Amino acid sequence: MTQISVVIPVYNEEAVLQPLFDRLYRVLDGLQRSYEVVFVDDGSRDSSPSLLRAQFLLRPDVTRVVLLRANAGQHSAIMAGFSHVDGDYIVTLDADLQNPPEEIPKLLEKMDQGFDYVGSIRHERQDKRWRDLASRAMNLVREKITRIRITDQGCMFRAYHRSIVRALVEHSESQTFIPALAFIYAANPTEVVIEHHARAAGESKYSLFKLIHLNFDLITSFSLVPLQMISMTGIAISALSTLFVIYLFLRRLVVGPEAEGVFTLFAILFFMIGLLLFAVGILGEYVGRIYGEIRKRPSYLVAEILEKPRAERKQVKKPQREVHLARTKP
Ligand code: UDP
Ligand code: MG
Repeated sequence: MTQISVVIPVYNEEAVLQPLFDRLYRVLDGLQRSYEVVFVDDGSRDSSPSLLRAQFLLRPDVTRVVLLRANAGQHSAIMAGFSHVDGDYIVTLDADLQNPPEEIPKLLEKMDQGFDYVGSIRHERQDKRWRDLASRAMNLVREKITRIRITDQGCMFRAYHRSIVRALVEHSESQTFIPALAFIYAANPTEVVIEHHARAAGESKYSLFKLIHLNFDLITSFSLVPLQMISMTGIAISALSTLFVIYLFLRRLVVGPEAEGVFTLFAILFFMIGLLLFAVGILGEYVGRIYGEIRKRPSYLVAEILEKPRAERKQVKKPQREVHLARTKP
């Protein structure tokens, strides 16, 4: 039985794959434990798939490659990897070497101590300043409006016990956020501080738009507070406008017809329309996700799996629907 599975989503990462192979396999070989690396090619259009094939041929005993038909997003790619792992402990790692593979033993040490979820806190995060700030803000919001307590939600470098990964695969949700969902299933979670480096090569795969959507995924998946805030605001505004209408009506009786203050009224009206559009948008985010969930479209399609045939391979059972349209990460 494999002890450790390392799942790595790969999307157009040809520039970093070789250094990743060099460092990762060195660390894992040094552990003196049975391991497997599960690469998930997320529909790359560069030479990543052929580099992964070459690596599979080089180390077929400890390598598995899941090739997806099209880009599904980082979280869906990781879920595809989770459906093909054998290990007791499952480590997720980015391909770009921002999370140094040399830190893997630190996560495993905690797992050995009996924790079933080991999160990571990036020591001196090496990303663009605005990303760091936005991510801190989102961490704060998530902390306030969900019951998920993780210090650094954006970092995917984590270790999970097999039971958690099985729960994730069996109850797969569309458009989810893996570190947060796994936290819900964890009985004994902990965190460690890890080093964080700048991307070894290539570019971030996250545009501002993708990041905003990812954060909507995070909030809508784990909290109804935005909807409750809308209804509370609605109640407050209705109460105030009732008073305002009564006041205007009384003035009409006492003072007679007036036309002044039209622009003030417009300002108030525009503000209300803004609020209304915002509320419709938030509502739409939830409704869209419900629609995505009930459509049950697969969130990823596997084109090919490269693996050594293993008769007695024990696999986390794949769910009937491999749903999710998940995008990814703050
Ligand atoms: N990734 C992926 N599919 C995507 C976007 C990203 O598999 O649609 C992978 C990417 O190859 C990398 C990891 O997810 O291994 C994290 O992506 P990236 O480093 O671009 O994110 P950032 O560090 O900028 O948040
Ligand atoms: Mg990165």
